Formats: sequence, C-alpha cells, structure tokens
Amino acid sequence: MRCQLCESQTEKIYKVIRKSKIYECSLCQLAFIDQKVLTVTKLLKDDTSELYNFENYKKDEGRLRKRFKKLTVKITAHKKSGSVLDVGAGFGLFSSELNKTGDFNFDLIEPGLKLRYVGKLEKKIYPLTFEKFKAGRKYDIILMMDVLEHYINPLKNLEKAKRLLKKEGILVIQTPNYKSLMASICRDWAWWMVEDHKFFFSPKSLRLILEKAGFGSQHLMTYEDREDFKKNLDGNFVKIKNHFLRAVIKGVYFTIFFPIYFVARNMLWRLNYGGLIFVIADKVI
Ligand SMILES: [Zn+2]
Repeated sequence: MRCQLCESQTEKIYKVIRKSKIYECSLCQLAFIDQKVLTVTKLLKDDTSELYNFENYKKDEGRLRKRFKKLTVKITAHKKSGSVLDVGAGFGLFSSELNKTGDFNFDLIEPGLKLRYVGKLEKKIYPLTFEKFKAGRKYDIILMMDVLEHYINPLKNLEKAKRLLKKEGILVIQTPNYKSLMASICRDWAWWMVEDHKFFFSPKSLRLILEKAGFGSQHLMTYEDREDFKKNLDGNFVKIKNHFLRAVIKGVYFTIFFPIYFVARNMLWRLNYGGLIFVIADKVI
C-alpha cells in the first residue's frame, strides 16, 4: 500500500475491522483502508443508514448544540463575519450554531442529507459532492467537519479548499483521532467505520497533510464528548452474556474509570489523546 502523504510503501496492518484491513504508514501516522476494496465497502453502506437518520440525530441535538457552541466560539475568535463554505454540512446544525455567534452568509454542500437546521441562514445549498462543486466566489471560512476521513483523496480536496479560500481565510477541520485514548481502549471504537471512512488521522498526520496542501499556521486541539466515550466503552462489555454480571462489571468499571478520566482529561487532550481532532488552519503563514 502506498501512503498518500509520504508516498512510501507500507504493508503494516494496523487493525482489521469487519474483514477490512486498515494499513498504517508509521512514518506519517496515517491509517487507511485498501483503496481497491472501496467498491466492496460501498456494498455495506446500508449498515450506516442508522447513523444518518434524522430522528436519531434529533435526540442528540441539545448535546450537539452545546458541543458545537464551544467550537464556534473558537472560530469567531478568528473571524466574526463573512462568507462560509460548509463542506458536508449534514443536517446543517453546525452552521446554524456558527450563525448565532457571528454575521455570516453560507454556501452549504451536502450530497446525501436534507438540511434541517438552516432555515434562518442567509444561504445557498448545493446537493452535490465537494469534488463536483464549482465555486463562483472565494470564502472567509471553509468548514470540513467530519468529512476528511470520507474522501478517496483527502489531499486533493484540501488543495481545492485552499484555492477556494480568500487570502486571509481559515479552514476548520474536525476528524476522529485514531491515536486517541478512546480508540485504544474501546473495543468497538465507532469511528473505525470502514463502510464510510477511508482515512484515519492522528494529530501528526493531520498536521502533515495540511502542510502538504499548503496551509500555514495551525491551531490544533483534541477533545471528546463524555457521552460518546461512554457509548463507545459500552461495546467492551457486550461479550458478557449474563445481564446481571455485565451490569455489575460495567458499574464497577465506570465508577473507577470516569472519576480518573475527569481529573486527567484536560491533560490527555493537551497531549493530543482526545477522540476528535479540531484544527483551525490559516491559508498563509
Ligand atoms: Zn507516510
């Protein structure tokens, strides 16, 4: 397998998830699935339909809004107004939160889902993929929240994002961190979603790919949502068939684990062990 970043060959299999091999370039800390099996994994795509179900998403809306608010504040510390391109906007919740913290107009790209939260936004919607998108203007902010890991060629799409940014523009990225504590200790880390995710980044590989795409200084942090962590940890106990025993073991584990986690998590995040990587990158140095 060839690493898209350093172009060296690697045969190191980092993990096998539902029969899909995940390779890793240990030099760049970039993990990826075999590009040749992409067509096969597409067949499994129906398995992920639950994840993109609006009724399920809505149940988490309050929690997501709170989480997004913390992130949008970081964005508006850089830019409080202007044009935003939201790539892979999903249901539009992130942009709707961003709109509360500044004075923005939006172009939203979303090929698969109906944008449910963008009613109040000054906007244009493009129901297509980023690869097919032809922009008529340049942007102050480009958002790529949880999309980079889906692309067949993330580097090419980052280069395109760079071209679409104004000189003083910023790129905002969020992507799962496969070198996180969560990924290490959760047997079924939800983001090993080989049906949909083609690349897996660590803070190191994300920095490298942004540099290669020509971005300047980067403000990078890692974090995760406690509920997400808890849900992911639940998977560690599914093999215990006895319900009572499972509840007891889980109870003891969580009672010990979470207090320690709460004390240590800020340090863990600073050391880049958070489950999600969030970056604001400048176009120029
Ligand atoms: Zn590499």
